Amino acid sequence: MRGVFFDGSSVHLRRDLPDPAVCAGETLVRVRRAGICETDLQIARGYMGFRGVLGHEFVGETSEGRRVTAEINNACQTCETCRAGRQNHCPSRTVLGILNHDGAMADYVAVSTRNLHAIPDIIDDRCAVFIEPLAAAFRMIEQAEVGYGTSIAVIGDGKLGLLCTWVARSSGARVTLIGKHPEKLRVAGEDVQIVHLDEVERLRATFDFVADCTGSPTGFPLALKLVRPCGTVILKTTVAGDYTINLAPVVIDEVTIIGSRCGPFPRAIAALATREIDVTPLIGAELNLDDAERAFQLAGERGARKVLLDMHSK
Ligand SMILES: [Zn+2]
Ligand SMILES: [Zn+2]
Repeated sequence: MRGVFFDGSSVHLRRDLPDPAVCAGETLVRVRRAGICETDLQIARGYMGFRGVLGHEFVGETSEGRRVTAEINNACQTCETCRAGRQNHCPSRTVLGILNHDGAMADYVAVSTRNLHAIPDIIDDRCAVFIEPLAAAFRMIEQAEVGYGTSIAVIGDGKLGLLCTWVARSSGARVTLIGKHPEKLRVAGEDVQIVHLDEVERLRATFDFVADCTGSPTGFPLALKLVRPCGTVILKTTVAGDYTINLAPVVIDEVTIIGSRCGPFPRAIAALATREIDVTPLIGAELNLDDAERAFQLAGERGARKVLLDMHSK
């Protein structure tokens, strides 16, 4: 089969890959579409030490023709962490296309059967690719009481920043999106306050919650400036590499810091099915899997919208 393979130095389309080995408890899925995300670009730069087929945002169909996607953490289900209900943190987990498990940028992917979610017909393939990142945005609402009567600033106008903005808005919170790309800030929608990064100084110590979606070492220090005393900073993006930061304000202002990763698929599916959240403004170029290398180039361009790989188009 075909698959987008990272061999430790570069990303290539390979046509000589064996079909995935389907382990006990797994289901073989024929992939229809997959999305390229920031994590994939980081892996392609060698940051996560992964080798294999990339891809963790996808929609496909089972051998019975059921349209599905799957959660990405494959947990052992037996260790103490799993039994406590924290499967996404299982110490021996594999993660689709990220950690010790081949991913979905291929003709076929094997996924944990218990991780499968059916996709309602009303969600088309292109939007369904966003279920995984949208679920990650909803994770923030599970962890922090963002909602009516609260204010939140989202820093970063990339795809995850916009998804977090929309999730926060649908929670009822007053939302401010901070970024530096006017064309992306405009996508946020009417009831979101838009602030350019150059103008944030006046917002010092303002917000109940600040979500850092920048993927940059500058995001967290800015979040600490913007959050009010006893407020909460939510870290949604990882930053590759170490950096230095003064944590004294965290103590003095008694700031709560929350790390936030994977989230609830059913909530994301419901939000797309009811059009509570419309992700279509985030959809960018669509290329056939055969053009995967070019698709990665496009995805890596500054300000790129979500680049999709279509497995079957010509
Ligand atoms: Zn991703
Ligand atoms: Zn476990």
